Amino acid sequence: MSEHSRIPLVAVLGTPVAHSRSPALHGYWLKRYGIKGHYIPVDVAQADLETVLRTMPKMGFVGANVTIPHKEAILNIADVITDRAALIGAANTLIFRKDGKIQADNTDGAGFIANLRQNAAGWVPSSGPAAVFGAGGAARAVIAALIEVGVPEIRLANRTRARADALRSDFGAKVHVYEWVQAEAMIDGATTVVNTTSLGMTGKPDLVLPLSTLSPAAVVTDLVYTPLKTQFLIEAEERGATVVDGLGMLLHQAAPGFERWFGQRPEVDEATRAAVLSA
Ligand code: NAP
Repeated sequence: MSEHSRIPLVAVLGTPVAHSRSPALHGYWLKRYGIKGHYIPVDVAQADLETVLRTMPKMGFVGANVTIPHKEAILNIADVITDRAALIGAANTLIFRKDGKIQADNTDGAGFIANLRQNAAGWVPSSGPAAVFGAGGAARAVIAALIEVGVPEIRLANRTRARADALRSDFGAKVHVYEWVQAEAMIDGATTVVNTTSLGMTGKPDLVLPLSTLSPAAVVTDLVYTPLKTQFLIEAEERGATVVDGLGMLLHQAAPGFERWFGQRPEVDEATRAAVLSA
């Protein structure tokens, strides 16, 4: 089959991968824009990741998303790594280039920012410090993005302090590490507050923080999107803050990949949200 007549294929690679919402999201966009293409979940063990990746372009795959547990390991396999993926130390979007090289990018941070810009209209990143809870893989993308858009100070707390200290040494002096018990002081004066921990997810305990110092002018967001509105967001909203759920980040991080693979910038709107929620 010639290059030109091939229907573009894209996969999300992970293990387990059945829970991923990405096939529903990309499938929705493909249908909406009338694009001939396929996006499928592929369960790949860590040991097979490189073999699978090197074979995929020969099968007509033009790229892939990578999810748990491959987001970090992929950097040892990719031929070209974007600066932001290198800084974050993980990638979620792969492009299989015409020259045969695998390019790895990370769009989580851009998705995080796009979600806030779309859903918290008055959000001004430079207006004050950000309080970030959690220091896992997602926190790295969030912190890199917050610094890039001009947040002057990042106050960071994590259950395991050493992980927060590692982020401080990777991202520099704008990051100030707090103990978890200092949450009240962290939130005091913060104009952006972010939960990047997995607390609050269905089946996990809630994220419980003292919100007495939370400003009603703050924008509060949660990366968790199952449930859509976490207890943490409910409490922040009760205090008058603007709250933004994590689903928009998932949708926005997917858009650059879709555009690269299928040649169409997809819209992230209510219809997109509804399509993913009903899948
Ligand atoms: P991760 O690397 O495993 O990090 C998990 C984080 O949660 C760590 O900071 C961990 O603290 C903390 N944590 C877990 N259980 C805790 C507990 N019982 N008490 C206090 N802290 C706890 O995971 P990740 O990739 O960063 O993902 C974090 C969350 O973000 C997940 O819910 C994920 O689904 C979500 N996420 C959403 C999007 C989106 O598009 N909306 C994108 C990426 C991730 P320790 O370091 O102490 O273990």
